[in-house]
Amino acid sequence: MPSIDAKSTNRACHSGQADFNLSGGVSPRWPRFATIGQMTPTPMMKQYLDAKQACPDAILLFRMGDFYELFFDDAKTVAKVLNLSLTSRDKGENPIPMAGFPYHQLESYLGKLVAAGYRVAICEQVEDPREAKGIVRRELTRVVTAGTVTDDHLLDPRACNYLAAVLPGTTVGMAWVELSTGRFQAASLPPGRLADELARVDPAECLIEEAAIGDTAAGQTAALVAREKMLVTQRPAWFFSRAAAVESLCKHFGLNSLEGLGFDEQTDGPAICAAGAILEYLKETQRQSLDHIDRLTPYRVGQTLELDESTRRSLEITKTLREGRREGSLLATIDRTATGMGARLLGEWVANPLTDIAQIELRLDAVGELAADSLLTADLFERLRGVYDVQRLLTRVSTGRATPRDLSFLGRTLRSLPQIKAKLAARKSELLSRLEESLDLCPDIRSKLDSALVDDCPLTSRDGGFIRPGYHGPLDDLRELASGGKQWIAQYQATEIARTGIPSLKVGFNKVFGYYLEVTHTHGQKVPDEYIRKQTVKNAERYITPELKEYEEKVLSADEKCKDVESQLFVELRELVAQGGKRLKSAAEVLAQLDVLVSLAELARQRGYCRPKLTDDRTLRIVDGRHPVLDIVLTQGAFVPNDVTCGADDGLVMLITGPNMAGKSTYIRQIALITLLAHVGSFVPARRATIGVTDRIFARVGASDELSRGQSTFMVEMIETARILNTASERSLVILDEIGRGTSTYDGLSLAWSVVEFLHDRVGCRTFFATHYHELTDLQKSLPAVRNLNVSVREWNDQVIFLHKIIEGAADKSYGIHVARLAGVPQEVNERAKQILAQLEQTHLDGQSRGSGAKISKTRRGGDLQLTLFAPAEHPLLQQIRAIDLNQTTPLAALQLVAEWQKAAQSSRGDTDS
Ligand code: ADP
Repeated sequence: MPSIDAKSTNRACHSGQADFNLSGGVSPRWPRFATIGQMTPTPMMKQYLDAKQACPDAILLFRMGDFYELFFDDAKTVAKVLNLSLTSRDKGENPIPMAGFPYHQLESYLGKLVAAGYRVAICEQVEDPREAKGIVRRELTRVVTAGTVTDDHLLDPRACNYLAAVLPGTTVGMAWVELSTGRFQAASLPPGRLADELARVDPAECLIEEAAIGDTAAGQTAALVAREKMLVTQRPAWFFSRAAAVESLCKHFGLNSLEGLGFDEQTDGPAICAAGAILEYLKETQRQSLDHIDRLTPYRVGQTLELDESTRRSLEITKTLREGRREGSLLATIDRTATGMGARLLGEWVANPLTDIAQIELRLDAVGELAADSLLTADLFERLRGVYDVQRLLTRVSTGRATPRDLSFLGRTLRSLPQIKAKLAARKSELLSRLEESLDLCPDIRSKLDSALVDDCPLTSRDGGFIRPGYHGPLDDLRELASGGKQWIAQYQATEIARTGIPSLKVGFNKVFGYYLEVTHTHGQKVPDEYIRKQTVKNAERYITPELKEYEEKVLSADEKCKDVESQLFVELRELVAQGGKRLKSAAEVLAQLDVLVSLAELARQRGYCRPKLTDDRTLRIVDGRHPVLDIVLTQGAFVPNDVTCGADDGLVMLITGPNMAGKSTYIRQIALITLLAHVGSFVPARRATIGVTDRIFARVGASDELSRGQSTFMVEMIETARILNTASERSLVILDEIGRGTSTYDGLSLAWSVVEFLHDRVGCRTFFATHYHELTDLQKSLPAVRNLNVSVREWNDQVIFLHKIIEGAADKSYGIHVARLAGVPQEVNERAKQILAQLEQTHLDGQSRGSGAKISKTRRGGDLQLTLFAPAEHPLLQQIRAIDLNQTTPLAALQLVAEWQKAAQSSRGDTDS
C-alpha cells in the first residue's frame, strides 16, 4: 500500500490536478483544458470533467454504454496497472489518452486497482439511454478505497477491514470503522499509544489532516501513520473540526449530545474529531445511506490485556512477521470457525485478550462444556456452516445494494436458528445460556422471506423470477397471462406450419422486432399474403402478422408488469429486513460468539489442549506446554513439550542459555502465546497450566528489520527495551530474546546484565530471557529470584543433537561452530574456527586476556558480595607486588622496580602497537 510520500496522494492527486487543474473550480479549469485540447470540450467531456472535479484524487471510471472508460492520466496509469491498451479519443492534433474495459469486468478490475492502493470513483449512467433527451445523465455513485470497500468479492470474509482517522495532538484522536458491518469506535490516546493502537486495529486506510504533514509535532504522528502498510488519505482541517464533528455525529445518531454514547465532550474531544472525520469521508465516498452505522462506541485503553506494536508483530498474533499474512499466524492456526462472522470475532478476541478473571472464566466454562460434548460441537459446527454472513448482508440491505439472493441467504440463516437455539437449551455454562436466551429467531422476518422468495434466487432484482408463486395474487395473474401468451405463440407456430405447409416455419423473438415468423428462402413462394415482411437474414425472411403482434403485446406487457411488481415487492422485503436490522444484528452477534466458542472447543478437543487455571498472582506453571503453531506445523509428535515453573516462590526471572537452534526462542514464545490464549478464554496447548492474570505481555524477540523505518536494528532493540523497562508492571510478562547483540560484546553484556537486574529489583515481573551471554548465569548467585535454565544438547561423535528439552541450570557451551556446520559452512572454515576457539579458551584460562572492561563487578546488598565476570586472570604484576617484602626494600630498590615495570609496560605496548 502506498504511503504519504509514496504513490497514493501524489499519484492520485496529480492524475486529477496536473492535467485538469480542477482544484481551482470551474473557471480556471476551462482555459487549462483548452490549452490541452485547443478546443471547447464536448458535452460528454464536460460531464466527465465535472465528475473528475468532484473527486480529483481518485481514478475515475466513466460509464459509456457497455464500457467503463478512463481518460487523460487516469487512462495512462490504469492501462499500465491493468495491462489495458491505451488508445485515444479525438484523434487529431490533441488526442485524449483513453483506456477502458467492458462493464461486466468491473469487479475484477476494481479489485486490482484498490489492491494496488488507488482510490477509484465510479460514474454511472443514471438514466436509460433510450429515454435520454440529449446526453445521458451520469452521476458519481461511489468512491471505492482500501478502507471503504464493501463489495464481497473485494473483502476477505474472515478478516475485518477498517478505515481509521488519526488527529495528532498532545492527546491523539483515533477512530475506526468497519464499513461492511457498521462497527464504529473512537478513542483519545496519549501520543505514545498510537503505534500500538494502529497495530491492534490494523486499518487498511487512514485519514489524516493535510496540515499534519507539514507541522513538526503533528508530522511525527503523520509519519507514524505513513510508515504503516496502509493507504494514507489526507483531508482538509475542517474534516476534523470539533464543532462540525459534534454536529454531524449527533445528527447521524439522532442525539442531542454525544454523552449518550459514553463520550465526554470535554476530554474525548480528539476522539470525537477523528470520528467526525470518518463520517465526513464516508459521506464523500459512499453517497448512500449510512444507517447501518448505528452506534459509536468509546474505546478505553487499559480494559484489555495490552500488547504493544512490536509484541504483536514478533509474536505473529494475527499476521506473520515477514509477509504480513494471516496464514501462519497464531490466529490462523487456532481458527476452526465455520463463518466469516465467527472468524472476524475470533480475530477481535485474539487481538484484545481480557484481564478480568470472571469474564475469562465465562468463556472458559462455555468452551469446556462444548469441548466435553463432541457430538454437540460437531452438530453446532455443521449448523453454523449453513449460516451466511448476516452482518455484511445487513449492510447491503441498509445501503440499498442487497440482491434477492442476499435476502434469500438471510432467510436461510433464519431458518437454521431454531435448531441452533434448541441445541443451546439447558446448557450449564452461563455464557451458552445467555446466548440461547438472547438469540432472537426473528420469526416474522423469517416467515415473510420464506413465503416470498423462491429457493434459488437470482443475483439481480431487475429481471424478476424470485417471488414464490402464491405469495402475491396480482403477480400470479400477470404471470399466468404472460405464460398463457407464450403458450398461444407456441400453438400459433404449429397452426401456421399446418396451414402454410412450411415445415421449417418458426416463431422467433428479438429485441428490435419482438416476435416474428421466420421462413427460409426455399419456402418463399408458400408465404401467405397477409404476412408482413420485416427483415431479410442470410437464408430466411422474417414476417409479422397482426395476430402475432396482438399476443406479443399481451406477453410483453405482462412480462414487464411482472418485473415491475417483483421489483416493488423486493423493495418492500428489503425494507422489512432493514426495519428488523437491530434484531438481526444482535442475532448475528450471538451466532458469531457461538461460532468462536465452538471453534475454541473444537481446537481444544482436536489438539488436546487443557483448561488453564487463572489466578490473581504472579504464578506461571505449565506442564508439557507446546508452541501452538509449531506443534501443528511439525509432524505429529515431533514437538518436544516443556514445563514452566515461575512465580513469587519459584523464581521470577528465568535466564535461558543454550546453543543456537536449541529451542530457546520457541520456548519463550510458547510461554507468551499460552499466556495470551488463556486470557482470550481459550484452552491452551499443555497438560496443565496455572496462569496468574497478566496486565501486559512484552516480547522483545529477534532483530526485526526496521531499516525501512529509518532506524538501526540496535536502536530499535533499545527503544523496545526502554519501553519494557518503563512500562512493565509486577503483573506483566516479559520475554526477551537476546539483548545487546547489535553492539560490542562488553557493551551488550553490560546492558543485558543491568536490564536483568532492573527487572528483578525494580519491576518484579515474570521474565524469560533467552541469551547467549553465558556470563549472565552468574546472576543467579546474587539475585534471589533469578533461575538458570538451559536447553539440553547431546554430543555424539562430534555431532550435536538438539533435544529441545528445557532443564535446570546454565548451559556449558555455545556449539556455534556445530551449528555453522549444520548450516553448510565449509569444513575448512569450521576446522579453523575450532582451532581459534581452542586458542582463545586457552588464552582465557591462562589469564592473558587483556580485554578492557573484562571485569564487571557489582557490589550488592551491603557490599558483602563481590561478583567478577569472565574469571579474569590476575595480572602477573600483582603477584610480583604481593611478593615484595617491603621491610627489606630500600626506596631506591623500590624505584628501580617501578622503572622496570614501566619499561616492561612500554615494550609490551610497543608490541601491541606494532
Ligand atoms: P534458538 O532460539 O535456541 O536458536 P529456536 O527456538 O529458534 O532456537 O528453535 C530452532 C528450531 O528448533 C525451531 O525452528 C524448531 O524447528 C526446532 N524446535 C525448537 N523447539 C522445539 C521443540 N520444543 N520441539 C521440537 N522442535 C523444536
